[in-house]
Amino acid sequence: MNSAPRLELEPPGAPPSVRNGSLGRPGAVLRLGDLLVSESLATQAQVQKALHVQDSSKSYMPLGHILIAQKVITRRQLTSVLVRHRRSAKLGQLLVKAKAVTSDELAAGLKEQRRTQQLLGQILLQLKHITEEQLRRALCLQLHIHFFDLDTLVLDTSLKALINPCFAETRLLVPVARVRNTLVVAMDDPTRTAVIDELRSSTGLEIEVITSTTASIRRALAQLYPERQQPSSNGRALPTKRCEPSPIAGEPHVIKFEELDRLSEDLAPVHNDVLRGSEGTSGMVRQLLTVAIDRGASDIHLEAVDHGIQIRFRIDGVLQGLDLAGLDETLASTRGKLMSRLKILSKLDIAERRRPQDGSFRARLERDGQTTTVDFRVSMIPGYYGESAVIRILDPRGLPQSVDALGLREPVAARLRQLLCSSTGLILVTGPTGSGKSTTLFGALRSIYHPGIKILTAENPIEYVCDGFRQHEVNDQLGNTFARYLRSFLRHDPDVIMVGEIRDSETADLAFRAAQTGHLVLSTLHTNDAISALPRLLDLGVDANLIASSLLGVLSQRLVREVCSECREPATPSPELLSTLLHLASSDFDWYRGRGCGGCNYTGYRGRMVLAELWTPNDADIMLINRGAPFADISKSAQKTTLPMAEDVIDKLKQGRTNLEGLDEVEQEVG
Ligand SMILES: [Zn+2]
Repeated sequence: MNSAPRLELEPPGAPPSVRNGSLGRPGAVLRLGDLLVSESLATQAQVQKALHVQDSSKSYMPLGHILIAQKVITRRQLTSVLVRHRRSAKLGQLLVKAKAVTSDELAAGLKEQRRTQQLLGQILLQLKHITEEQLRRALCLQLHIHFFDLDTLVLDTSLKALINPCFAETRLLVPVARVRNTLVVAMDDPTRTAVIDELRSSTGLEIEVITSTTASIRRALAQLYPERQQPSSNGRALPTKRCEPSPIAGEPHVIKFEELDRLSEDLAPVHNDVLRGSEGTSGMVRQLLTVAIDRGASDIHLEAVDHGIQIRFRIDGVLQGLDLAGLDETLASTRGKLMSRLKILSKLDIAERRRPQDGSFRARLERDGQTTTVDFRVSMIPGYYGESAVIRILDPRGLPQSVDALGLREPVAARLRQLLCSSTGLILVTGPTGSGKSTTLFGALRSIYHPGIKILTAENPIEYVCDGFRQHEVNDQLGNTFARYLRSFLRHDPDVIMVGEIRDSETADLAFRAAQTGHLVLSTLHTNDAISALPRLLDLGVDANLIASSLLGVLSQRLVREVCSECREPATPSPELLSTLLHLASSDFDWYRGRGCGGCNYTGYRGRMVLAELWTPNDADIMLINRGAPFADISKSAQKTTLPMAEDVIDKLKQGRTNLEGLDEVEQEVG
């Protein structure tokens, strides 16, 4: 009985209902009809018809209830009118009308209420004037919802997938039935309109609320979600605390995501949170982005799973979970709302849930006294359990402003700087996807740029904007391909051209022609090492002579995770790793690993560094290429003109900045 419902709309200390003198006075009821007519929600005839039904009904039924049953108005419309005009019926009146209490009992209850400042319903329960069921039935009349004895209903277990169990349990609600586009939900506290709004948003269905006794709702929950009633034994602790968003503590940085907040608030339904202030999810997207940016994540993955959402962050190239201090639970229970908010921010179609959509938004971020603009690219796809989203974070603060900032070892950086001084020729950057090729190109272009030259870029997509470059985005649908841009660029008299990627014969051919006609061209290829660029270009149909005359150099790179400097400790690698990767390490040096600490999210790694090799063909190499010599011969000759990656690896191993485990990861990724 201690679970007495908190359904009261009548605050303690409110003027006693009886004093309103509305008991049994039909005028007060008529006024609701007038209100509905004046707001064009019902016609005079509909109200008259409903009043007729009310008169002929044996038990008392409020007019609003009848109009809802007759489908003249919805419960939302009625609640909105009642709340705005402060016309909610008084609980005491309803109990008297329903003959649950006598006027004398009510008067005694109200007297007690003035003394104890408790809720009227609770007092009447304590005085044993009413039962919980009678109270609830009266509240149902007050809220214009139906009361059901849940114990007599057969639960439809297929509906449990629609609602996150954590959400259902903490809000004490049970899905009961689904009729076409409407989900009927039994709620312990049906006044929580924000919870109803969240359900509507997460399920995509209209929600019809009913109620029952607290005990029977708990029994129904136990029946529907039995796995949540047992203590967890599989190691995955089930959340027991309330699913509330908690602010990220101790963050020195303040994010001013003005646009996020404004757009989010505009979405809020008119009477959302009228009855309860803080149930909404405002600010959650902002909190999520704050965590991601502070941790240096490149992407946030929001994946729909059974009953909720899995939230992971790509940090240093690896997907990992973070301790979100309860935020993840809140987001899981309000997945639909989260997705809707992301769609609004990214200017996507909020009603579209069945097709993939891509969008973006931008937010201003204030940190260390500086304001930067961060771009977010949002991609949404529908899946088996609902929509999943990936948010790519384009934070310009991490961008290299020159070749020096790329982290290349000095001989490689020096030779690359030299190549970038050329006014004509082609420089290629190669590596697998996600090896930082575009970052390297950006740093290289920043090194070259000065106001006296013109730099044109064709990118897919443009990730970072730089005022010094004229950037162009590839759009295959419009026919704006790399090749088409390259052809046009030649008529725009550039000094430097950057082509995001060479992946077809036409682009390859045009890039080499541009390089031959007095332009410095930078681009990328998808190959595993520097010398492999040669067979790849030949495959693409580029003439060997053209390659020989224009190829200045090929930089091949990898990103490898750096051992966390805060928790680094000596360690011996496993014999298997030593045997598979020992060809890289010739001598006996000290091995290190990260033990794992808060700074590295217990991964042992923090940040990434680049491992690179640079091949700059000399006359001997060029003669062989020109002659069409076998690849083995060219490759052998190129060894003398290549600063090899193996040197880089041994350097970094000796410094303890990487280890065999980290390198093995790269090998697998490449293989
Ligand atoms: Zn660490």
